Amino acid sequence: MISLDLRPLLADALELVLPAPCAACRRVDGEGALCRRCAQALADPPRQHRPVPCPPGLPGVWVTAGYEGAAREAIVAHKERGRRALASPLGRALARAAEAALLGMPPGGAVTPIALVPVPSSRRSRRERGDDPLLRITRCAARSLRERGVPATAAPLLCLVRETRDQAGLAASERHANLRGAMTARRVPAGARLVIVDDVVTTGATLAEAVRALGPHGRVAVAAIAATRLRRLG
Ligand SMILES: [Zn+2]
Repeated sequence: MISLDLRPLLADALELVLPAPCAACRRVDGEGALCRRCAQALADPPRQHRPVPCPPGLPGVWVTAGYEGAAREAIVAHKERGRRALASPLGRALARAAEAALLGMPPGGAVTPIALVPVPSSRRSRRERGDDPLLRITRCAARSLRERGVPATAAPLLCLVRETRDQAGLAASERHANLRGAMTARRVPAGARLVIVDDVVTTGATLAEAVRALGPHGRVAVAAIAATRLRRLG
């Protein structure tokens, strides 16, 4: 029995032969993965966001959208329904947030490499989805930055040293406990400017753990595509 996972290949093939509806509003207008109107949800100027309560050590997170409406639909469709063509518009939105995050960092010389570091996904979620959606978005974001002359690369420098529970349904304090000490950094290039990236920031627990693991290795900023509304979780 062949156990090769064909889901990502099938999703790509279907997107090539069928006119895909807009991932957010479901209209078929041939404009791409998102129609022009829904794409506007990802076009707001980047802003700094702080979860409430803000986890210790987490700097302001640069985001371009609220996690609602078309932005939320696009992120979910890419992650849960295999709409891989959305990686491109989502990557451009993430690139704008990352660029805003970089503006707040010391420049460090013209040739200082910039690494976009996705938060690591668990082996369980990679197995369930067949691939790593956040890494795909991060690669698109790095490409978008390079097209604008910013020398960025996608660099999966963080990995989980132990499996964690699914964060969904956990209160903020439980999320912090679930993730504390769960990540480690590997092969970080000396002197790099590091932008930790995620698709959605909720309690900030994941990003705070990433900052703890990566912070000793270089200058760190944080960016995401979207932030959930301020709310108190536990
Ligand atoms: Zn639409």
